Amino acid sequence: MIDRILDNAHQGKKLNKPEILQLFEIIDKEDFKKLLKIASNIRDSISDDIKLTSTIHLTNICKVNPKCKYCGFASNTSKEGYYNGFYKKHDEILKIAECVDKTEIPRISCSGAHGYNGRQAVEAAKIVKSKTSLELLVNVGTDLTPSAIKELAKYNTDTICCNLETINEELFNRLKPGERLEDRIKICEMVCEEGIELSSGLLIGVGESYEDRVDHLLFLKKFKTLGEIPIMGFNPYKGTPMEYHPKCSIEEQMKTIAITRILYPKIRITVPTPTIGPKNVEYSLLAGANNLATVVPQDYPLSIKGVGNPSYGNLDDILNVVADLGLKIGSKY
Ligand code: SF4
Repeated sequence: MIDRILDNAHQGKKLNKPEILQLFEIIDKEDFKKLLKIASNIRDSISDDIKLTSTIHLTNICKVNPKCKYCGFASNTSKEGYYNGFYKKHDEILKIAECVDKTEIPRISCSGAHGYNGRQAVEAAKIVKSKTSLELLVNVGTDLTPSAIKELAKYNTDTICCNLETINEELFNRLKPGERLEDRIKICEMVCEEGIELSSGLLIGVGESYEDRVDHLLFLKKFKTLGEIPIMGFNPYKGTPMEYHPKCSIEEQMKTIAITRILYPKIRITVPTPTIGPKNVEYSLLAGANNLATVVPQDYPLSIKGVGNPSYGNLDDILNVVADLGLKIGSKY
């Protein structure tokens, strides 16, 4: 049975929900290897270019209350994270963007906590897009208004990210008691209506079932401008309510990346270096990912902590991993 499903995946045939579920249930090592091979071949048949995305954290002062149970990014959540509140000044945003722009990294993410109606995102977009040649992703979750989305479009923001994390509503409410799933879906719809590329991803290993993951991946099909799916494996941040929840295994992350690639051959699949762990990024590439996020050049001018995990990927190390796998970094211009 699994051989037939893998063959159909290999031939690019459409899989139904029970078949996708069976891919998630693979435990045999050889079948697992086949799954990864099929996924990475699908990616390479379209392009073996790997995208790199750096990051600017705009602010960690988050007005969502109560805080998301896993969050170690917002101020006063985890001593491993930033802990102290900050709000990046315009000259700091510019300094980081200019530093990244001088490297092989073609793209930057400007992300931040909630409570500003998108002003922090719009100001950052204006700086990055007027002063650098970087592609720009903005991620401030649901902290956007229709006019802020229009302004982001005006400044040529390439992508807006709003991760649903999980579409199991009961689980969402437990993990994110200060937010509503419907608000996140609404932002995704507004981004699509504006014609801006949407990025929307899954947080995995947080208590969701395989069926939840399949439903989530199929749900994303409804977003017309969806161009990117981040796959984020859970890592516990010390001091948070989920400190003792087990981290998501590499195998689960690889399986989810590979199945996402089979369902979305052409999409950008993003793996944040903090969530998979900087030493494990090769596994995400072997599974069919094609964008590594939170990649930081050596001379990054300010201190930085990853979201989901304090560590992050060093540019030189990442370049070596990509080259060792025979892949290449997409050209910058
Ligand atoms: S995960 Fe985002 S929205 Fe939730 S508390 Fe942290 S910064 Fe705020």
